Amino acid sequence: MSDRIHNFSAGPGALPLPVLQRAQSELVNFNGSGLSIMESSHRWPLYDRVHNEAIEDISTLLDLPDDYQVLFMGGGARSQFALVPMNLSAGATAAYVTTGRWGLGAYKEAAKAANAVELYSSADTNHDHVPQPGQLQVPSDAAYLHYTSNNTVYGTQFQYIPESGPVPLVCDMSSDILSRGLDISRFALIYAGAQKNMGPAGVTCVIVRKDMLARCPDSLAETFNYRSMASKNSLLNTPPVFSIYMVGLVAKHLLSLGGIEAVAAVNAEKAELLYRLIDNSGGFFRGHARADSRSGMNVTFRLPSTELEASFVAESEAQQMRGLKGHSSVGGLRASIYNSVTLDSVRLLASFMEDFQARKG
Ligand code: PMP
Repeated sequence: MSDRIHNFSAGPGALPLPVLQRAQSELVNFNGSGLSIMESSHRWPLYDRVHNEAIEDISTLLDLPDDYQVLFMGGGARSQFALVPMNLSAGATAAYVTTGRWGLGAYKEAAKAANAVELYSSADTNHDHVPQPGQLQVPSDAAYLHYTSNNTVYGTQFQYIPESGPVPLVCDMSSDILSRGLDISRFALIYAGAQKNMGPAGVTCVIVRKDMLARCPDSLAETFNYRSMASKNSLLNTPPVFSIYMVGLVAKHLLSLGGIEAVAAVNAEKAELLYRLIDNSGGFFRGHARADSRSGMNVTFRLPSTELEASFVAESEAQQMRGLKGHSSVGGLRASIYNSVTLDSVRLLASFMEDFQARKG
């Protein structure tokens, strides 16, 4: 469709066109039911199937072991910053790795709800890296270790799963879930706001190892309590029906593409294209992230001057590319290349960057 722009927004991010088209075709009459899925009671079989298929398809994509459960919750990833310590700290100290804005946000919320310690921070180099394997000393009596797998603002990403020994590992995967293969059995809990790789905003996916549910205190409000939500299959109260329906369509779409491995291969090609160009630009484009910590989802870079950065954004917009302005805490540019940003869009951006350098470098 030629009237669609190339969306490099950090979030909400691009959605697959076939998913949007299918949702459009089903919007007013879902599956011959005579109503929209948005009008269906969440207690009707019509919705039940949508809900359970979304859970099954996410489980298939992630190769989820049997002792894990997928939950759908409201409140965005930031609510999980508070809910994780409320549910899982069990009176012990929670350990946090703060490699960016969101990791720091999670730590601050944890410090309100529980005892929390900042185990590692990359703030002294403006979050240009994540710790390398073996660098984290996790206290063995910690309630859990929390980290952010992909730092959306700074464009850094863990290329490995941190070792936490006996300590349960908790991860905010908001900006890289479903983008690459992962051994889920290493995690006690994963959460992700849907609006980058999974679907539209409005639903947060929580994947919890079932033994962790024993920790959730009865004193918590039921909609905040992972155990209560799990026992009702996330249907304790009215779920965000339409967002979950869209997440289900995205999951089916990813399966039709060949699953995570196929998606990961395209993602790697997209990221390599941009990083190669940055590395070969003779310093015209300067990546923010250290090479060992580069994100495959958010490519952050600077130009020689803020004036050039401003004209880069303006010219890219004239060519139907949107969302390339970097976050204010890093400056410069940020190309978010989530699952649904096509290789063609990234190729267009790469040739625009080459042309821009040829003209202004
Ligand atoms: N964590 C990460 C890694 C994010 O990128 C974001 C949003 N950009 C958040 C948390 C906050 O998500 P939400 O807006 O869903 O609360």
